[in-house]
This record gives sequence, structure tokens and C-alpha cells, in this order.
Amino acid sequence: MSVHLTDQDQFRDHISTADQRGKRLWIYPQKPSGRFYNYRKYLSYFFLLIFFGLPFLKCDGEPLFLFNVIEGKFIFFGTLFLPQDFPLFGLAMLTFMVFIVLFTAIFGRLFCGWICPQTIFMEMVFRRIEYWIDGDANEQRRLKNRAWDAEKTGKRVFKYSIFFIISFLIANMFLSYILGIDELGKIIVQPITMHKGLFFGLLFFSLVFFFVYTYVRENVCILICPYGRLQGVLLDNKSIVVAYDYVRGEPRGKLSKEIKAESLSDSRETGLASSAKGDCIDCGLCVKVCPTGIDIRNGTQLECINCTACNDACDEIMDKIHKPRGLVRYASELNIREKKPFRFTARMIGYTVVLLLLSGTFLRLFMNRSAVDGTFLRTPGIMYQKIDSQNISNLYNVKILNKSHFALGFDLKVEGEPDARIQMIGNHALHAEKGDYAVGEVFIIMPLSALHKRNTELKIGIYAAGKKMKEIKTNFIGPG
Ligand code: SF4
Ligand code: SF4
Repeated sequence: MSVHLTDQDQFRDHISTADQRGKRLWIYPQKPSGRFYNYRKYLSYFFLLIFFGLPFLKCDGEPLFLFNVIEGKFIFFGTLFLPQDFPLFGLAMLTFMVFIVLFTAIFGRLFCGWICPQTIFMEMVFRRIEYWIDGDANEQRRLKNRAWDAEKTGKRVFKYSIFFIISFLIANMFLSYILGIDELGKIIVQPITMHKGLFFGLLFFSLVFFFVYTYVRENVCILICPYGRLQGVLLDNKSIVVAYDYVRGEPRGKLSKEIKAESLSDSRETGLASSAKGDCIDCGLCVKVCPTGIDIRNGTQLECINCTACNDACDEIMDKIHKPRGLVRYASELNIREKKPFRFTARMIGYTVVLLLLSGTFLRLFMNRSAVDGTFLRTPGIMYQKIDSQNISNLYNVKILNKSHFALGFDLKVEGEPDARIQMIGNHALHAEKGDYAVGEVFIIMPLSALHKRNTELKIGIYAAGKKMKEIKTNFIGPG
């Protein structure tokens, strides 16, 4: 994006949160306000409700969502996924990544500003508590520089205590997504000595969250987040981002009393600027509210999380000087430079085609996914056995995985071979608890008349409660 080259070019030499020698520059963003901030606030309430509420939702007595990486058990919308579903999971991840690439190519970092949990917790929870306790940016600076008197100590203790409690709560909620809310409830009421490992894990992650929201802050987005680092390759001049309209805003300049009077009278009549200067009055409010400490007028920068605080700040100024809103707005470079509307580029079409193909494949696999999986393998080293002059048998090892939420008993049938029989060894039924295996040995007894070659492929139907759950293939060896 075009850059205003004045005395501010040093922004190219170092990130906004460190000086040229690498020393941390603490950002004190002014409290934002305005329509975008309000929309973001409402959306954040919704996401927080989802984050804290989802673990309590259940389906058939099981959590609606569970990400038990310890036991390799995942539940999405009440459907159980086990490590055997890894191909499906891998495809879902691939589809999601292509979606992110396409979404970013079109909408820039919209996700970062509006949806990302880091931004929501930082800007909508911790930062707002900070404004409430420490006051706005200037008061925060004053508090930082003042001696450790009773007021400063009290405010710091109060703020960090609340920060730690929320961090502890977040760590607990994350644990409930891994273990389930019932398990978490048990851990909470039982003595710590029974769950020492989990307790120290919880404490560790609480401290990590506390450290992130107290000290690391915007540096997560600027330095750590891989998605943020990818922006340089994902964005182009057609991507819609929070941008400064330099065509309209430059040359910027302070609003002198004469120009102010002229501007006010002209703009009331025409709604447009009249002086040789651009619409930017160089008030610096867009910089003061920026939580990553950058000047959006320098163009798209990797620090920008598209939080819209500068949109609101500039709109407020434009309202005051009676100029049209949107000097800082959602726009692409092309839109600003050439006044061209949004266009779907060849790159975006390519991403969309790949995304549709992946989504289609994923949906087909997902819809055909069975609640049962299994293997039906001939026992190694054993040939066929002659039962009588008409029939021979093969011995098999059977392993059936129950991926449903219920215990299941299984029946087996050789499909398309009415004279074939399956005989369990040991007369025990094939039965599996939810998420567990049914294991057994069976004979398949086939009439010689049905075998026309040495190696015959058979289809085995797995039934539960009379319903066919899955069909798997196996081989039957005969005399040939
Ligand atoms: S430049 Fe604007 S949109 Fe970007 S982070 Fe700063 S305030 Fe938010
Ligand atoms: S808030 Fe608007 S008018 Fe003020 S410096 Fe930023 S872009 Fe210019």
C-alpha cells in the first residue's frame, strides 16, 4: 500500500512494540468507542457465552464437543471420532486451512479482529478490566510512573488477582474441553492429592494465560501467531483490510482555525472538503487507540489485527469536522487507489475450486462414516479345514471397533452367500462397550460348490440390533 514518506519512516526499521535497540515499548492504547467497537463487544459476548457454555451441553449423555487428546477421543456435535478416523480429521484440517487462505485473501485479518480468542480475551476482557481499574491510557501511564504508594499497590494487587482468577477459569474451561465437564467437576471436589498432575498442569496453564494477558499481550499477534506471520503472502492489493484512504486524506495537516471555519461551512453545504489539504487533520487519534501501537496511515502492516479501533476513532473525528466518515475503513488498495469495487480474482477462484472439492470429499466421507469399523483377517499360518465332503472352513481373527455412544452386540453374515455359515469359537458373543473393541475368532464355513478358485473374496456384513453397520472384505482359501 502507498506510504506517506515524511518523518515517520522509522516504522520500517522496528516493530511497534520495540525500539530500535530491541527494548520493549509498552503500548497504552486509548479506550476505543464507536459503532464497530460496539458490534465487536456484542460478538465477543456471544463467543464468550459459547466458550464457557459449550462444555455443559450434552447429547445422549455425552459432551457435544470433546477434544480428549490424551485418550485420542474427539466428539464433534455429539459424534464420536477415534484415532481410526484420522484420515477424516486430516481432510477436515486441510479443508479448514484452504478456507482460511481463501478467507484471508478476500477479507484480510477479519478473523483476528472479530473472532480470534486471543483478541477477544485481550481486548474485550482483560483490557476492559484494566480500563475499569487503572483508567484510560493517560491514567495508566501516570500510574506506571508513580511511586509504589497504597493506591498503586492496591490497584495492582486487585488487577492481577482478577487477571489470575480469569486465567485460572480459562485454564479450567480448556481442561473441560479435554476431559469433559463431569470429569472436571470430580477433580474440583476431590482432594488435590488424588489429581496432583492435573492440578499442577492447571496451575501451569493458568500462569501461562496470566503471563500472556499481563505481559506478552499484543506481541502474541505480532511475533508469535503463525497466522499473523503468513499475512505477507496471503494478502494482495485486492484484499479487503482496515485501510487509510490516502487519496482522500493526503496531504494531511493540522486544522487551523481559518480552515476549520471554511471546512465547517463548506462541508455543511456540500459534505466535501474544500481546502488544498486532504481530510486527515493529523490528530493522531487513530494511533492513540491502536492496541498494537501502529499508525494505519503508514499502510498495511503486519502488526495490524484489523480491530477497527482506528475506524471508530477516525469516524468520530470526521463527524466532528463535518467530513464524510470512512477515511479509515474496510477497503482494498485497488479500491482506494483506483476507486475500483471488489473483484473476484483468478487466485480467489482457484482457492474456491480447491475448497469446494475438499469440502465435497469431506462431506461425502463424513456422511458415509459408519459407527463401526473392523478387521476380518484369516489367522496366519492356518490353511483351510475340511468339515465334510461338501464343506470347508477358514479360521479368522475378528476385531470390531464400536465408535458409537452405546454398547453394541454384533452379528456377522457372509453377504451374497446364502449357504455360508459363520461360527464363533468359544460361543461368546461379539460385544463392545462404546469406544471399545469386540475381539474374537470365527470360522467361516463355505460349501465347496461356491468356490471356483483357490482364493475367493468374501464380503462380511457387520450387524448391530438387526441393522447393517458396515461391510468389510476378506479372503477365503479353498483347494482351488
Ligand atoms: S491499525 Fe487500526 S485496525 Fe489495525 S490494529 Fe491498529 S487500531 Fe486496530
Ligand atoms: S484519526 Fe483520522 S484524521 Fe486523525 S490522524 Fe487518524 S486518519 Fe487522520
